[in-house]
Amino acid sequence: MKAIRVHEFGGPAVMRLEEVAALTPGPGQVVVRIQAAGVNPVDTYMRAGTYPRKPALPFTPGIDGAGTVEAVGKDVKKFAPGDRVYLTGSLTGTYAEQALCEESTLVPLPPHDSFAQGAAIHVPYATAYRALFHRAHARPGETVLIQGASGGVGIAALQLARAAGLRVVGTASTDRGRKLVAAEGAHQILDHKDPDHFEKALAETGGRGYDVILEMLANVNLAKDLTILALHGRVVVVGNRGTIEINPRDAMGRDAAILGMTLWNISQPDLASIHAAIVAGLENETLRPIVGQEMPLSEAPRAHVAVLEPGSYGKIVLFP
Ligand code: NAP
Repeated sequence: MKAIRVHEFGGPAVMRLEEVAALTPGPGQVVVRIQAAGVNPVDTYMRAGTYPRKPALPFTPGIDGAGTVEAVGKDVKKFAPGDRVYLTGSLTGTYAEQALCEESTLVPLPPHDSFAQGAAIHVPYATAYRALFHRAHARPGETVLIQGASGGVGIAALQLARAAGLRVVGTASTDRGRKLVAAEGAHQILDHKDPDHFEKALAETGGRGYDVILEMLANVNLAKDLTILALHGRVVVVGNRGTIEINPRDAMGRDAAILGMTLWNISQPDLASIHAAIVAGLENETLRPIVGQEMPLSEAPRAHVAVLEPGSYGKIVLFP
């Protein structure tokens, strides 16, 4: 089977499409024929070797994917060949024609979701759910600002927050991104590149401030986020690519909380609970994964450049 392989950490060009041995499942394992693989920013950090979790070389990148069950090992009870599934991780990487998975990491893909949508579920939706409900304890009726609502996590957070009855303000830096954020239900849309965007964001709350802020680029926005939080406001650091100076008094004066999160830290029961909620949302169509760009697997290097560029529009998905 064909797979993208990384033999040394480096730029996007270190990813090459190669012929590798076909996979066979061991006990409790499932081989999935990958029909679509989701591209996440973390895949680029892992490929570059800059992420705290360094995979052993050589490796096949990719956490997210969807496809059909091809073969099941001994003791696999919940899945049979032909079943449509999405992945919440794998043992071998998803940028490939096949992936080897523990049975527990597969979730049935609802019939009306395409494989491309299936590849756009796990990292973005589980992260958004974790940030909103497990970390920030967002409640219906509260107001949330999603700083970076046009990308994978942002769109997921927007749909989840709307379905839960929050008031949502979302940001994007391009017209196309802002149109998407509006179409997915944000009550107000702002541009995070606009120098006045914090003042405008505060004005959207009548000066009260935000109960919750989900932050996709904390090294740029965190200091000012603290100044537009409401009393008892919570900001969740979802994305960060550098350092920033903050004034702790901005948090003190509001009894505010700055909450970090990393999806890797989640427990298995919490993850299973999150995916139960996600599947319910997919089934009732309050959750609608948005695929903005589709590319063949061989163009993984181009996808890794694109995912870090401004102008996000949902997810980038690769097709083997
Ligand atoms: P993505 O699809 O590439 O989207 C990136 C988002 O960030 C876009 O909405 C983009 O908006 C926005 N953005 C760019 N510049 C910004 C700025 N100055 N202020 C606010 N937002 C800005 O990435 P993603 O999958 O949504 O992930 C977002 C971030 O969260 C990434 O850094 C990723 O590594 C991180 N992440 C963390 C976890 C975790 O466990 N903590 C899990 C998943 C993702 P425009 O393109 O419209 O400018």
